[in-house]
Amino acid sequence: MAGLYQGQGMSDSIFTKIINREIPSEIIYEGDLCIAINDIHPQAPIHILVIPRKPLVNLTEVEESDKDLLGHLMLVISKLAHQQGIAEGFRVVANNGRGGGQAVFHLHFHLMGRKSFSEQGM
Ligand code: AMP
Repeated sequence: MAGLYQGQGMSDSIFTKIINREIPSEIIYEGDLCIAINDIHPQAPIHILVIPRKPLVNLTEVEESDKDLLGHLMLVISKLAHQQGIAEGFRVVANNGRGGGQAVFHLHFHLMGRKSFSEQGM
């Protein structure tokens, strides 16, 4: 399954390259449908990105057929929050579109914990 979405050519996002092991990353979870990595510029002591293998652009672009995948991503986030010991309080963010601050156009959810986010403006 790991190579299911390989071969996207020059349009590969940085996250597809991470999924395909073309560039290194701290992968903390890997499943058939998604991976989770430590954010390279963490905004909180725990800052994880949950990324579907399918290279969806963002929530604007998802379709009805992505419903199960989106639900799966939420469950992975919940499991990771428990594993990381932040289940009592965490934040999930999806920056959507340029106007929403999205920098990497491959859908991903930020899971952040152990800090007052108001200090971050996030
Ligand atoms: P955004 O698209 O605004 O939701 O943010 C993209 C996130 O990806 C930022 O928090 C970056 O720090 C993070 N990021 C970019 N490149 C990498 C990388 N190679 N490894 C881990 N995180 C990354």
